[in-house]
Amino acid sequence: MTDAPSRIATDIDFDRDGKQASFLRAPSSTNRSAYGAVPIPITVIKNGRGPTLLMTGAVHGDEYEGPIALAKLARSLQPDAVSGRLILLPALNPPALLAGARLSPVDGLNLNRVFPGTADGSLTSTIAHYVSTVLIPLADIVVDLHSGGATLDYIPCVLLREQADPARMRATLAAVMAFGAPIALVAREPDDTVYLDTVAERLGKIALLAELGGAATVDKGNLAIAELGVQNLLRHFGLVAGAVVPPAGVGRAATRLMQTPDAACYATAMEDGTYEPFVALGDAVAAGQALGQIHFLQRHDRAPVAVVSRRSGRLICRRPLARVEPGDCVGIVACDYPTPG
Ligand code: CA
Repeated sequence: MTDAPSRIATDIDFDRDGKQASFLRAPSSTNRSAYGAVPIPITVIKNGRGPTLLMTGAVHGDEYEGPIALAKLARSLQPDAVSGRLILLPALNPPALLAGARLSPVDGLNLNRVFPGTADGSLTSTIAHYVSTVLIPLADIVVDLHSGGATLDYIPCVLLREQADPARMRATLAAVMAFGAPIALVAREPDDTVYLDTVAERLGKIALLAELGGAATVDKGNLAIAELGVQNLLRHFGLVAGAVVPPAGVGRAATRLMQTPDAACYATAMEDGTYEPFVALGDAVAAGQALGQIHFLQRHDRAPVAVVSRRSGRLICRRPLARVEPGDCVGIVACDYPTPG
C-alpha cells in the first residue's frame, strides 16, 4: 500500500455528529472535462460513541440489491436512532454503475481486483486506495454488498474467510449469522489479496462480503433479504436498538452454513456453445454428476458435452446466460460446513 495521500477529496467531516449526505470527488480529467471529477455519493450518520460500520455497494456496476438497500437505509435512518457511526457508499463505482458493467469503462479495471489500490493510479485504483487508506481505517466492521452481476446468479449468501484466530472466527461468524441470508459461506479464494474485504481483514476489521442475487436483475425476494440483512447487522453491532430478526421471523428457513473449500467447487465450461442446465439453484449435486451440457447448435450432428461437478453439495450459483466459452464458470457447488462447537 502506498503512503501517498489520496487525490480524492470530500467535504464530509467523519467526526461530526449528525447526518451528512455528500460526495467523494475523484479527479478524472477527460476530453470533455479537463478538470473533471467523478462524484461518488456518501452518507455518514453519526451519533455519540459506538462502533463504525462501513458498507459499500456497486463495486461492480451490474449488481443492484446492495446499492438499493444501502440507498434506502441512507435516506431513512436518522442520527438520533444511531449509537456510533455508519459510513454508507451505495454506489462506490459510478462509471461502472452508469454503464451497467462489471468493469469500469474509464480504465477497464475491476474495482474488486485492484485493492489496496494506489494513490497515483488510474481512477479505479485511486478509489480502492481511498477506501483502503481513509475509509477502512475509520471502521470496525466492513461489509461489501455484491451480487453475481450479469454472468452469475447466487442464492443470497454472506461470505466469510476462515480465520486463524478462533475468537475472530466466532465474531465474524456471529455477524454473518445475524445478517440472516439463506446461506453463510465459508470461502477460500485463490487470489484473495486484492479484494476490498480481504484488505479490511488484513487491517484488523471484521469483514463480510455478501452475494445477494445476480443476473443483472433486481429480485424482490433477494432485495428483501438484503434490506433485512443490513438492518440486522446494525442491531447485531448495537448501532441501532432492537433484536436481530432471524429468517424464521419472516417465514424463511434458517441460514445454512456451507463452504467452498477449493477450486473443485467451481464448474467450468471447456467448450464454445450453448449451455443447457440439468440442475436448478439449491438442488443437491453428487460428485461426478453432470450439472448441464454444452450444445453445438451450428453442428447438431455433434453430441453435446457434459459439464461435470467435481464435488458433492448443492448448486448455490449458476451462470444465467446460455452462451458459454471455454473458461466460463457455469456453476458453484457448496457443501455443508461443520457447525463450530
Ligand atoms: Ca460482484
